[in-house]
Amino acid sequence: MARDIGIDLGTANILVYLKGKGIVIREPSVVAVNRHTGDVLAVGAPAKKMLGRTPASIISVRPIRDGVIADYDMAEKLIRYVLKKAQSAAGVGKSNIIISVPSGVTEVEYMAVEQAAEKAGAKKHPILFEEPVLAAIGAGIDLKESSGSMIVDIGGGTAEVAVLSAGGVVLCKSIRAAGDALDEAIISYVKRERSLLIGDLTAEEIKCTIGAAYPKPQEEYMEVKGRDLKTGLPKNIKITSSEVGEAIAEPVNTIVAAIKESLEETPPELAADVMDKGITLTGGGALLSGFDRRIKIETGIPVNVAENALDCVALGAGKCLEDAALRRLIYKNRNMGV
Ligand code: ADP
Ligand code: MG
Repeated sequence: MARDIGIDLGTANILVYLKGKGIVIREPSVVAVNRHTGDVLAVGAPAKKMLGRTPASIISVRPIRDGVIADYDMAEKLIRYVLKKAQSAAGVGKSNIIISVPSGVTEVEYMAVEQAAEKAGAKKHPILFEEPVLAAIGAGIDLKESSGSMIVDIGGGTAEVAVLSAGGVVLCKSIRAAGDALDEAIISYVKRERSLLIGDLTAEEIKCTIGAAYPKPQEEYMEVKGRDLKTGLPKNIKITSSEVGEAIAEPVNTIVAAIKESLEETPPELAADVMDKGITLTGGGALLSGFDRRIKIETGIPVNVAENALDCVALGAGKCLEDAALRRLIYKNRNMGV
């Protein structure tokens, strides 16, 4: 019997959980192909390194970047690569496969993921589960009980704010402001204020190193390389954490506003539960320095960043694979693809 497989099909990272083993694959959701032949040249970390650096004959893309599947052919290539690796690790036979998708996907989006997985070589019909539900399970929230919880999963392309109760989604807001939007905001700021052109990877590095959603107690600096817009030549500048804070203020505010709106829309009993238990942050964006503090100050509710924030969805899929009763409960309460 082959082991069952759980896949976190994230916009920035794709993770695979093997039943009984844990997380076995963790790769950026990036594919590099030959522009002319369509042959896959690299997938994951090596393909990510090529982003913005490829010669004319190569394209390096993030096929799940905006929304569920932005580039169907490339997404299929990415899923094919990951599935092949996962299935060979899973052993001979047909594995059950759970794949995460954003909450409230349309029927068309739902089918696109299903078909991509089938075309990519899934030996069994995959089961699609809602991302925030899996993120909550992976963060250690007990969904079997009927008390309400709020989970905020901040990924690359989207941030999802969800209120969950009794194994299902009570309400969920998905917004396009997340990790990528912070990177883009840093690129525009550095261009506008410092006349320096920087790439996506540099912007991401700045964000992860000195970015903050709440001012740091001490100013931090970082040396940044780019192209001077005036001379057209390479140039180094020093950027400060408060500049980065200013750069990302708008997308950070958008995420905070989505959380506040969701709280306003939460039924009172569940809102009281959230007040007691606090808001849980997951996803790579949850690691932005001071995000928890900022949300706590603006909402007046305790906030905790999940342990292994980047792994929660995959770990949640794993728990569903290991626990049949939990899997049935989540399956029964799914609200998507309809
Ligand atoms: P997805 O689920 O969409 O694939 P992830 O949950 O894997 O996304 O998170 C990826 C995002 O998290 C990226 O935008 C990445 O830059 C961001 N990220 C990762 N680590 C940090 C950090 N320490 N500070 C801020 N952002 C981070
Ligand atoms: Mg995710």
